[in-house]
Amino acid sequence: MGARLDTLNLDLVAASRVEAEGADWALARERDGSRLAIAAPPAASRILDDFEGETSGSPAGSLLLGPRSPKNAAALRRHLEWLRPRPLGTRTSAGLGDRLGLATPGHVRAVRAVGGAAVIAPIFPQQSIREMTRTGRTPTEVMDDATWGMFAEGWCDGTGADADHLKTTADIDACLAVGFSMFTIDPGEHVDPSADTSDAATLRARAAGLPWADLTDSEDAMRRRYLGQSTVVEHLTITFDEVTLLRAAVKYGRAVAHVARMARHLRHAAGPRLVELEVSVDETETPTTPAEHYWVANELNRLEVEWVSLAPRFVGRFEKGVDYIGDLAALEKDVAAHAALARHFGPYKLSLHSGSDKFSVYPIAARLAQGLVHLKTAGTSYLEALRTVAAVDAALFRAIYAFARERYDTDKASYHVSAELRKAPLAADVPEEDLPGLLEQFDAREILHVTFGSVLKEVGSDGKLRFKDALFGRLRSNPEAYADNLERHFVKHLRPFVT
Ligand SMILES: [Zn+2]
Repeated sequence: MGARLDTLNLDLVAASRVEAEGADWALARERDGSRLAIAAPPAASRILDDFEGETSGSPAGSLLLGPRSPKNAAALRRHLEWLRPRPLGTRTSAGLGDRLGLATPGHVRAVRAVGGAAVIAPIFPQQSIREMTRTGRTPTEVMDDATWGMFAEGWCDGTGADADHLKTTADIDACLAVGFSMFTIDPGEHVDPSADTSDAATLRARAAGLPWADLTDSEDAMRRRYLGQSTVVEHLTITFDEVTLLRAAVKYGRAVAHVARMARHLRHAAGPRLVELEVSVDETETPTTPAEHYWVANELNRLEVEWVSLAPRFVGRFEKGVDYIGDLAALEKDVAAHAALARHFGPYKLSLHSGSDKFSVYPIAARLAQGLVHLKTAGTSYLEALRTVAAVDAALFRAIYAFARERYDTDKASYHVSAELRKAPLAADVPEEDLPGLLEQFDAREILHVTFGSVLKEVGSDGKLRFKDALFGRLRSNPEAYADNLERHFVKHLRPFVT
């Protein structure tokens, strides 16, 4: 054997092949998947000590064939620095969450198809703690699946890694430990939407009860900073009268204190490592007004929180996996205001959450944010997996859809969706050739979207997973079909942001 992989009798995944540190790296296809292959000349053979697998040697060098294991994924990230997540700063970016762990090759192809990392910085590892719980995945698995996907495609242009919707300091620690670089702090539980409709007396009473010590502030000092002040921010004039001020403080004061606490913890825990932070209040009941955005950003600044992107709760409805529902003119006005504030206080990026399939929003956000934008999508990679399954195993897809209909009323509780069961066709009524069309039907699409956790976890009467293994089996034996579907779908998401 030699120190080059192509002199060996291996079925290499051509796109994965890379030379680094004097060694030759690739994935080698095997009957039941693929293995990591590294050929190193004698001078570089110590590299192989960091990996696990079978090694063989000759005077020309050493060869390692190793499993796609957590140890090998971590070692790959250590040796191939482009696989190691890094902060992206204020570059235009897109997070492409992957709930099954098989979507990164398709995501890589979509990013390449629109011009690559030079025009849109990707985040391949991205999952919220909620979705990890639902899919039974760990932060390590989310990271490793993306690592293997990037490696398989020969992606060398870097990635961020978004630990999404973190609610506790333990969430931060778990994701920091495996190399996430972006931490999305979700203080939604600390937002008080009832402030929107409270009268002045109620707001005064509530304001008195805010955690002023945590905010290193007092109500009097805050009133002095804001009342009677008018600030011009581009086309906006932000004015705080008493009710506007108290409403912002009552609605978001505890959330600001929570974000500051989480940010302090992150800074301390990360030490010298470079990480970045996003603030997201998108999953709250009522929209964030421009004055409230101003107050939140101004207070976070005062508390010395640094953040790279902010996801306000926009007007209208950003439901999962379907286009925007609401008045586009009102949304345009709203995005213009939030974008102006993001430039004023940061600049930081506006983050569009639940960003899948918001095709009518992308041109508006791209134009108004002037490149300071982060698009976050997650669930539609699962829908594209189902589209792939519908084409190769209609019976499996039909069974998943029938089950999703049964689960919907329970599973929809923690999502913003408005699909109605009675409007979605019955599984038995849909002819085989029309099954993929269910993915374009509004109600069926949302029903399939929010039930993924139940589908993956459902155990049949034989004690085995009812759908998960079959679903993964179909995707693993049709990787090109899945990657094609993902690429086509995500090019439509990314192209509007490429100017
Ligand atoms: Zn979100």
